[in-house]
Amino acid sequence: MKTSKERHDNKLDRDEIEARIRSFVDGFRRVGVKVTHQRLEIFRELANSSDHPDPERVFRGVRRRVPTISLDTVYRTLRSLVDLELITVLGSHLRRVRFDANISPHHHFVCRKCGMTRDFYNERYDWLKIPAVVEALGTVEGTHVEARGLCARCVKGKGRQSA
Ligand SMILES: [Zn+2]
Ligand SMILES: [Zn+2]
Repeated sequence: MKTSKERHDNKLDRDEIEARIRSFVDGFRRVGVKVTHQRLEIFRELANSSDHPDPERVFRGVRRRVPTISLDTVYRTLRSLVDLELITVLGSHLRRVRFDANISPHHHFVCRKCGMTRDFYNERYDWLKIPAVVEALGTVEGTHVEARGLCARCVKGKGRQSA
């Protein structure tokens, strides 16, 4: 059962999407990078997504509206957003990198079959006590819980195969 503190977002509300796009635009302006039409469309594609897309997915989405866009432009724009700390990167394997436009504290459900990744919120997980053994490895700046399993579609045998 869902409580107000334990929501999970599949649909983003318009305010949230607009706020994300504004912060991307402001971030680029702050460092003096021009917000071109192509970049704005990349922002829009990313801000609209609750699915933690990989670069190819962002590219395919933007290309529907801007047929002249190149994958390289998408990569470079995404990298700039990471450098400006306006989005984060999930996972460490470069070829499977995914981007997250949600930078408020949250956690993830990841489908091990199709790779579907969705946010969920739980205040208790935001404040997990880190064991000393982790602190011995380095300074902890945040924690995030990744719940893994099969998404509802994959349970029913309808999920798409992971790329
Ligand atoms: Zn799945
Ligand atoms: Zn996320």
